[in-house]
Amino acid sequence: MECIFCKIANGEIPAKLVFENEHAAAFDDINPVAKVHTLVVTKKHYENLLAVGPEDAETLRGLHEAIRETAKLKGVDASGFRLISNCGADSGQAVPHLHYHIIGGQPLGQKIV
Ligand code: AMP
Repeated sequence: MECIFCKIANGEIPAKLVFENEHAAAFDDINPVAKVHTLVVTKKHYENLLAVGPEDAETLRGLHEAIRETAKLKGVDASGFRLISNCGADSGQAVPHLHYHIIGGQPLGQKIV
C-alpha cells in the first residue's frame, strides 16, 4: 500500500493527530495555508468523492462526524471555517485519497480561488 494518507490513517506514518473515529482520522496539514489547516481523511481508501457510493453511507457519516468534532477541537466551530475537498486534475488534488481540508482560525474573505 503506497498511499500516504492510508499510512497516516493506520499509524504507519506519524502525523499530528487531532481526532479519529472508526471511519476517519484528522491531522494537521504539513503545509498550512491558514492558522488552522487540518485534514480529515477516510480510513478506507477512496480516490476522491467520485469513488464513494450509496453503500458507503456509514463511512460518510463517520467522516462528517470527524469534521464536526475536529472543528470543535481546533476551536473554529464558533468562528467558522472553509471545507474543501479537491477532486481530480483541475482541482489540483495532490493526494488521491478522499480528504477534506478544514481551513480557518482567521478571516478568509469571500474569494474561493
Ligand atoms: P490536495 O491537493 O487536496 O490533495 O491536498 C493534499 C494536502 O496534503 C496538501 O495540503 C499537503 O500539504 C498535505 N500533505 C501532504 N503530505 C502530508 C503529510 N505527510 N502530513 C500532513 N499533510 C500532508
